[in-house]
Amino acid sequence: MVQRIVVVGAGLAGARGVQELRAQGFSGEVLLVGAEPHLPYDRPPLSKDVLRGALDSTTLDVPWAELDVDLRSSTTATGLRDGVLDTDRGELGFDGLLLATGARARLPAALAGPDTHVLRTLEDALRLRAALVAGSRVVVVGAGWIGAEVATAAAAAGCRCTVVELGEAPLAGALGEVGALTVPWYAEAGIDLRLGTAVEGLQPGAVLLAGGERLLADVVVVGVGAEPDVDWLVGSGLVLDRGVVVDEHLAASRPGVVAAGDCAAWWSRRFATRLRVEHWDDALHAPAVAVSTLLGVPAVHDPVPYFWSEQLGHRLQHVGHAGGADRLVHRGEPGGPDGWAVGWLAGRQLVALLAVDRPRDLAQARKRIGTDVDAERLADPAVPVKAA
Ligand SMILES: Cc1cc2nc3c(=O)[nH]c(=O)nc-3n(C[C@H](O)[C@H](O)[C@H](O)COP(=O)(O)OP(=O)(O)OC[C@H]3O[C@@H](n4cnc5c(N)ncnc54)[C@H](O)[C@@H]3O)c2cc1C
Repeated sequence: MVQRIVVVGAGLAGARGVQELRAQGFSGEVLLVGAEPHLPYDRPPLSKDVLRGALDSTTLDVPWAELDVDLRSSTTATGLRDGVLDTDRGELGFDGLLLATGARARLPAALAGPDTHVLRTLEDALRLRAALVAGSRVVVVGAGWIGAEVATAAAAAGCRCTVVELGEAPLAGALGEVGALTVPWYAEAGIDLRLGTAVEGLQPGAVLLAGGERLLADVVVVGVGAEPDVDWLVGSGLVLDRGVVVDEHLAASRPGVVAAGDCAAWWSRRFATRLRVEHWDDALHAPAVAVSTLLGVPAVHDPVPYFWSEQLGHRLQHVGHAGGADRLVHRGEPGGPDGWAVGWLAGRQLVALLAVDRPRDLAQARKRIGTDVDAERLADPAVPVKAA
């Protein structure tokens, strides 16, 4: 019988896991173990409202006392054995375990230095915010989601900002060639965007580019992606493959162990592939399924992935999974007043859609993913996506 459930990782997925345990009627002991000294907080505002000074705290609104949880902050899990979680503050026995350790910012050794920043935690955000002062020279390495949002905040703060990207387009990792449509936004914001440019390393007060050019930098921000926080599970017997490998029920390869959020690589029935996403929406919803599985109630995690970003004056929303797409359909004119969108099609099937400043397209596309669309009608911004 399951009497004690330990949740590891006190981020959004961990907090939601605790809430779901109680909502689904678990009345046994619940422990929430988290490495950070804080109560669980939200990360998306860190690169938006917190960086621009509109918010200092993003603590999640959770009624902890009502939930009757044993909260273990500043406690790092270090290993996993049969029914035992090892932590830097001793071992904890469990009958059920929810892994929700999320991800951490990647920082190549060549870019580590006293003026280097990454952005994953509240402390990272407050430290970076203090450094973004008008007139300072900011070099952002990586034009991915974090890089673009940091550049937005830096430009708004009056910094002289350069973004250096190895790929041929911003956001190329997530959007492929479509990311190139965001290039004009950088110049409009007064940001110097260097594409196809490798960073060699750091020098005092400068970033050294391949080819020898030096970019003077008071602040260096590295936004080159995140790694699932699962190294501590190596040797535990759990199958890991760029995340905790879980099935469509979010069950890991050992009984009584489930995973959710950024650390989980789950089998997607819908897309017939393994997915690991770093999306707030997934960390919000997946724990309900993980908890059901832990409590022995059949449930399947089969979402249409969704995320958003706010950058350089635009709201980007992406739904679906573009892997397997063989065709792009452009909808509306980039630069036009009504926003634009791009659909990814596999045959006639809509598999993903990016909406830029067109929230209605996004809302309707969510229901169309996996269904056939008429490409010509989808390309016509006057035709609602639901009728394409
Ligand atoms: C700056 C920023 C902006 C973002 N903006 C967006 C956005 O606009 N839209 C969007 O969809 N998504 C966004 N995301 C992604 C979104 O925030 C994540 O998908 C979400 O936070 C994942 O939640 P999680 O609980 O799985 O992991 P996390 O939030 O990473 O939480 C995991 C927790 O586990 C702890 N932990 C790790 N290892 C251990 C251990 N061994 N023992 C104990 N505790 C451990 C960590 O310290 C952390 O507190 C953003 C992320 C960041 C960093």
